[in-house]
Amino acid sequence: ELVYTSLDVIDTKMAVSKEFYFSRQKELSDAKNIAKTDLQFRLKQLKRLYNAVKKNEASLIRAMEKDYHRAPQESLQLELIPLYNDILHMIDCLPKWIKAKRVGDYSPAYMLGSVYVEKIARGSVLVVSPCNFPVLLALTPVANAIAAGNSVILKPSELTPATAREMQRIIEETVFPHGLLQVVQGAIPETTQLIRSPTFDMIFYTGSPKVGSIVAQEAGKNLTPCVLELGGKSPAFLTKNFDIRNRSKLHTAMKRLFFGAFSNAGQICVTPDYLVIHESIYDEVIREAKIVLNEMYPEFSNATDYTHMIGDRGYNVLTNLLEKTQGETYTPTAAAGFKSDTQDGKYCIPPTLVFDCPWDDPLMMEENFGPVLPFYKYSDLDETLDQIIARVDQPLVQYLFSDSAHERQKILTRLRSGDCLIGDTIIHVGIQESPFGGIGTSGYGNYGGQYGYDAFVHERTVFKQPFWMDFMLFMRYAPYTEAKRAL
Ligand code: NAD
Repeated sequence: ELVYTSLDVIDTKMAVSKEFYFSRQKELSDAKNIAKTDLQFRLKQLKRLYNAVKKNEASLIRAMEKDYHRAPQESLQLELIPLYNDILHMIDCLPKWIKAKRVGDYSPAYMLGSVYVEKIARGSVLVVSPCNFPVLLALTPVANAIAAGNSVILKPSELTPATAREMQRIIEETVFPHGLLQVVQGAIPETTQLIRSPTFDMIFYTGSPKVGSIVAQEAGKNLTPCVLELGGKSPAFLTKNFDIRNRSKLHTAMKRLFFGAFSNAGQICVTPDYLVIHESIYDEVIREAKIVLNEMYPEFSNATDYTHMIGDRGYNVLTNLLEKTQGETYTPTAAAGFKSDTQDGKYCIPPTLVFDCPWDDPLMMEENFGPVLPFYKYSDLDETLDQIIARVDQPLVQYLFSDSAHERQKILTRLRSGDCLIGDTIIHVGIQESPFGGIGTSGYGNYGGQYGYDAFVHERTVFKQPFWMDFMLFMRYAPYTEAKRAL
């Protein structure tokens, strides 16, 4: 369905991307007011990108629906609106972000000179994007890279071919300066050629930890810096200090957990992957969970406005795990007996709770990346944290539902994570000016607001020293005489 870019064409595109960067810098070096010219150029490209996506909103939503039965409401709410917000925020803040920063150093060696830190573009950048948010996670890094003055090659996911094609059409029909932004379509061989190339000055990769490690190793051979936005098992905690006597609060907590666990059919890097619940509230939580799940999914069929699994790979893995689980599965009453019509390419798994999942359950091993939420009943918080740390150590996010500040602090102190949410799930990714990124196996490097801009620049110190004050620096020059030593 998707025409992969031939390896020769990839070579040419890479050369054009690098050439664009060099010729742009040459042009800029002759500009009368570089700062102003460069800012205006970048703003213009961001506006072009914004307008192009906005104009083609309906066709992008249709493409995602075609690729994996993506619920149009989710495409708009979780994908396109956040993308618009990101680009508009960049346009708003770029005049501030682009400015060099004056630095004062009052020690004698520097106090009479001037120091500033400027943010220079890295050059030609490769963005490799995943399948689960095929537009947002492709075009937000692309916009960041352009805002920071780079040229970009985008390699969308081959698992969402209609969306990948649509993005390429939109980008090619939007007349960007030649070489600024190009798309390469492909799967493993094409991506391998890209990540092995010494052409790139940076790689921004979003995907699984396994492939992230391959990317980092290949990039490392050319000393190409990377940002890795990866996934993993993000735990959610419902502790004994969460006040379940407040029924409506428990109800809301379950709604928020299921919003995170089942939106995009659970195919979100920050999805709560499993829920640990204190034994004293476990039965009440299950009772409420069943009520809320049925309220949220009152009807269920292949036609329901509910996102499906992206292709057979994830579907087969997850249905296999569900067959092997030792826990008790629960789906909404409306989905009882539901069978996915896989022959028609519909890979649908209903939202599924799995009660009483032990630590050694197949669902507790790897990131589930689908609409399945295992429940684990715990009695001792420290022992539970020991288990989690031994398994995942550094999840992308942790979700805390506890009314005790002391208890929350205990969990936060013991469990490292990319981010943390208290009382809600997944929506932190939309906060404009806070960093989003992993730690350890969930990745490295951040984006989000200025963090995204900074990810695509190199911060260069520029120090200018006057000559007239050289007498003050006599100590540093040879010969190292007795008199100097004595001082
Ligand atoms: P993936 O790692 O399979 O694929 C991502 C990209 O890598 C695709 O463009 C693909 O073509 C390419 N790729 C795949 N195998 C490759 C290989 N062997 N060599 C070179 N390139 C290869 O991931 P996916 O299934 O598209 O996305 C799901 C994963 O991404 C989950 O683990 C999820 O948690 C993670 N994710 C992380 C974030 C984040 O921001 N941290 C966001 C979304 C998804």
